[in-house]
Amino acid sequence: MAEQDTLFTKIINREIAADIIYEDDICIAFRDIAPQAPLHVLLVPKQVITKLSESSQQQQALLGHLMLTAPKIAAQEGHAKAFRLVINNGAEAGQSVFHLHIHIIAGRDFSWPPG
Ligand code: AMP
Repeated sequence: MAEQDTLFTKIINREIAADIIYEDDICIAFRDIAPQAPLHVLLVPKQVITKLSESSQQQQALLGHLMLTAPKIAAQEGHAKAFRLVINNGAEAGQSVFHLHIHIIAGRDFSWPPG
């Protein structure tokens, strides 16, 4: 296994099946296998960044691209007006896959503060 292989690189490389709903040169989006809302999509950069706090100035354009792409995906899925973006950074914050990803969730009410 290459050093940079993650569960999500296997999805990117079509080694593991996923319900892919968006892809471009920089990122991919697919439905979460355990959805927490009617819409629950993971938006993942193709470049492996283990977590947001490990990103650097060099990834500024990539991170901006993810932020601009997330609302487009929500809109594509019929949730242009209301959605929530979540990034779990570190195991204590709930991160279980160490390949940066943005959860795009929508389609129900969300409480605040989050659990
Ligand atoms: P996190 O806990 O923030 O690292 O999020 C990881 C997410 O990946 C969880 O919401 C999982 O349900 C999801 N997940 C794990 N395996 C798969 C898979 N094979 N396909 C799609 N989503 C997955």
